[in-house]
Amino acid sequence: MHDFKFKKGELYCEDVRVAEIAEKVGTPFYLYSHHTLVDHLTKIQKAFETLNPLVCFAMKSNSNLAVLKTLADHGAGFDIVSIGELKKVLTIGADPKKIVFASVGKTEEEIRFAIETGILLFNVESVPELEEIDRIAKDMRKKVQVALRVNPDVEAPTHDKITTGTLKKKFGIDLTSTRKILKNRAKYPNVKINGLHIHIGSQIITSAPFINAIKKIAEFIEELKQQGHEMEYLDIGGGLGIIYKDEKPQTAQIFADAILPYLEKTGLKIVMEPGRFICGNAGIFVTKVLYLKDNGVKKFLIVDGGMNDLIRPSLYDAYHEIVPVKETKAQKIKADVVGPICESGDFFAHDRMMPRVKKDDLLAIMSAGAYGFVMSSNYNVRGRVPEVMVKENKFELTKERETFEDLIRGEKIPEFLN
Ligand SMILES: *Cc1c(COP(=O)(O)O)cnc(C)c1O
Repeated sequence: MHDFKFKKGELYCEDVRVAEIAEKVGTPFYLYSHHTLVDHLTKIQKAFETLNPLVCFAMKSNSNLAVLKTLADHGAGFDIVSIGELKKVLTIGADPKKIVFASVGKTEEEIRFAIETGILLFNVESVPELEEIDRIAKDMRKKVQVALRVNPDVEAPTHDKITTGTLKKKFGIDLTSTRKILKNRAKYPNVKINGLHIHIGSQIITSAPFINAIKKIAEFIEELKQQGHEMEYLDIGGGLGIIYKDEKPQTAQIFADAILPYLEKTGLKIVMEPGRFICGNAGIFVTKVLYLKDNGVKKFLIVDGGMNDLIRPSLYDAYHEIVPVKETKAQKIKADVVGPICESGDFFAHDRMMPRVKKDDLLAIMSAGAYGFVMSSNYNVRGRVPEVMVKENKFELTKERETFEDLIRGEKIPEFLN
């Protein structure tokens, strides 16, 4: 499942001691396993082999260049949500013909650049966006291929902040409007509406919501076919859940077995956009213990990483397993694991049974490879932490720790204050 394992009482990433990396790069830092990334991508590719889908890694979950290159080298395309992501992934030589672009708010600059780049599909999320793409395509004398992101209005049992497939959310186009667009497709002569897209949410651990959405879409595709609207692509989005605590998520194979029959029936070329499934368990966040504080009511393990580095616990009430990098027989205590930030929301765990670790001991916050570093900020004027990748017995810094100069770059005192 992943390549972070204890050997002789010490946590390793593949064949490298995590503590050795900490000595070299300092704490806190993110650490990624090359092998785990490849393994998870391959699992999806294999499970869906019969359909030969285009697997577009959702790079918003982890946009580290070494991660992107690893996945591109193993056949992945990319699901992007901004011009920044597009420019970033092009630097590692990603094939534009394997790039799909979702976002409810694509700007003119982003649309132009993506058209110039020649991406495979725009996943269009509203009628005005479709009109805008049509207008820009005309201006650029290009015909642009798009898929309509349909909001299938299905519930997915996950955290409210990561549900996307109901009409209470901003994403996608409702079925009625989608029908209308297709009926009036002559109004958009510079776009080729060549597919449908769905993405119903994230960290979904059962196949039922996916099946519901795909069934709905498959019927819809059938209806469209009968009206003479032929398409080429069905993009089923991402959202596959992983294990953080004691979830029992479907494996790629079980997921594939459940939905393949519906996908096959559509006869369309399948695009998938997994993010978390590929990188979630392929990364950890390593932090160092600063203090153990006991206020008579509660104990607090204070560490040098904070919510600015890994915001998932405070943003999504997410659970992350936390383990000492060196196994210890120290007595267990119940404590909150918290960072140094001046916010009560700055925590990694509440009331967790933890060994009574000591100052300078290292803790690994597991399953931090997705929506970890990418959501980090400079809050409290803290530099963003470095990212390291391990491949077998080698490790290398893939992004440096931000310096104080990085933190004030671009800032200046206005003339009128001098
Ligand atoms: C975030 C997102 C994904 C990836 O979601 P995961 O849960 O990480 O697999 C895929 N497609 C779209 C459109 C997204 O917004």
